Amino acid sequence: MKINFKHLQKKELESCLDNLGWESYRTDQIIDWMYKRHAVSFDVMSNLPRNLRTRLNDIAYLSELKLLKTETSLDGTIKFLFQLDDGETIESVLIPNVRGNNLYTLCISSQAGCSMGCKFCETGRLGLIRNLKTHEITDQVLAVQRYLEQFRSDVFTDSNWEDKKIRKGEISNIVFMGMGEPFNNFNEVMISLSIFTDLIGISKRKITVSTSGIVPGITKLSEKVPSVNLAISLNATTDSTRNILMPVNKKYPLKKLMQACRTYPLSPKRRITFEYVLLKGINDSRNDALRLIKLLGGIRSKINLIPFNRSQSSSEFIRPDEQDVQEFRKILVNSGLIATIRKSSGSDISAACGQLRADYLNKS
Ligand code: SF4
Repeated sequence: MKINFKHLQKKELESCLDNLGWESYRTDQIIDWMYKRHAVSFDVMSNLPRNLRTRLNDIAYLSELKLLKTETSLDGTIKFLFQLDDGETIESVLIPNVRGNNLYTLCISSQAGCSMGCKFCETGRLGLIRNLKTHEITDQVLAVQRYLEQFRSDVFTDSNWEDKKIRKGEISNIVFMGMGEPFNNFNEVMISLSIFTDLIGISKRKITVSTSGIVPGITKLSEKVPSVNLAISLNATTDSTRNILMPVNKKYPLKKLMQACRTYPLSPKRRITFEYVLLKGINDSRNDALRLIKLLGGIRSKINLIPFNRSQSSSEFIRPDEQDVQEFRKILVNSGLIATIRKSSGSDISAACGQLRADYLNKS
């Protein structure tokens, strides 16, 4: 059976080339082609001897995600629907940075579907389909980089200029906030992190892993990849509300979760991000804001307030009024916390937080 080179880390690639009788600098050349020049075939690796390329074609291949569809939002956010080898589908979301500097944050998936069952989340409604393999995680970044590249090299004309100006750019940040709970696919996520940092060249400080609150995963992340950013999807200030919104809370209640955050070893100037989806009448009261201040005491934090994005299939929750959202934020900020209201990037194309579902519901 052929080996997928995208599934190997540098040492494994080196030993593979060594077994074939080639010098170690050939590994660097292959890595450069795979991760910097986004090659999807050994045939294009023009600085490798022809007999090496032939040998590689005999024993190995380079995986590639099949891009089924892109949708572009009015705000420039682009949602990608990818098909995996077994026919399952996942989504990634490319979000333009607010500074308008042609840099993007890519929100990637770690699982097809998700078993965590968060009540406000479309992915949670799917249940878990399966864990993604390492290359299915890293290939999301490579596929989107390739997608962006085509606009960089294109000839711009009057008719396509505006469209291409929006899309031209580079991925500066990666966030594990797409489909799935990253700590439920811990090993593959950890290997993908090492590929992002060591082979693709993205700094750990530019990568964020977001969890629904799996406490042992938080501890393990700090041991394995200490400088990666951590985000917690919090969404409630009492166990009774969080138990309903996020069943994970029954196993890891707020006290345990906050204790894990308090002891998380943060690099200087770094903060833990707390995501808080605001749901009208459920978690958006003045008392919630005051409890949130208390919960985050002693934690270097920043809070992302996300007014609920209503999706096509869910009508259980209501988005709070703009005035109430602003009031909630004001209480937090007045207490000295950093709190921002997240613009619902891509909400018109169901690419905003909690809306990803990879068209599974449309498939049936
Ligand atoms: S919010 Fe995250 S952890 Fe919860 S169901 Fe959705 S994808 Fe899973």
